[in-house]
Amino acid sequence: MEKKTHIACANLLSLSLIRPTTIPSLLITIGVSSLGSILPDVDKKDSTSDKLFDRLMTSLITIIIMGIIINHFFNINIYKQIKEYNNIYNHILCISIFITMSYLGSKTSHRSFTHSILGLFIYSAILSYSFNKNIVTIYFISHLSHIILDIFNMKGITLFYPFKYRLSFKLCESNGTINKILFILSSILTIIVLIILCINN
Ligand SMILES: [Zn+2]
Repeated sequence: MEKKTHIACANLLSLSLIRPTTIPSLLITIGVSSLGSILPDVDKKDSTSDKLFDRLMTSLITIIIMGIIINHFFNINIYKQIKEYNNIYNHILCISIFITMSYLGSKTSHRSFTHSILGLFIYSAILSYSFNKNIVTIYFISHLSHIILDIFNMKGITLFYPFKYRLSFKLCESNGTINKILFILSSILTIIVLIILCINN
């Protein structure tokens, strides 16, 4: 399936299940479900996210090295100061681990680790370290929807990674007619759900 189809399907699922009642929670639902719906494809070798992660990782490593150097020469005890902001420290740690795992995922072969039950649970568990149940649920649903949609693809996925067995229902191509129908249908239904949510709140 194409990126836009994964996003549309995940948004439809998340909005229907979570039913956000405020604008911030609506934006968070759409943001997290979009992230969960496209993250599994970081393993695409031609993907722009692959290049983005390379840059992100370089920046992250540079910041860490600079922090260690500044900490050493100016003796400002960065670790203690960060830990005093307990909540922020947890979020930073959680996001850093998530980015690192995404980077490692981008180095695995296409439709393997990030498209497996193992990957789904690892990424969700990392987020559960510092984010609330709603956010983890939205992420879990969206990542899972990506995996399920890709099973219908001709090439299939290694759902039980590290086992190499490829599961595929061989029903559609990633940019074929079913993909287009699914995108249009889920987009229309998402708009309907959004209208219902606006009326009810
Ligand atoms: Zn995929």
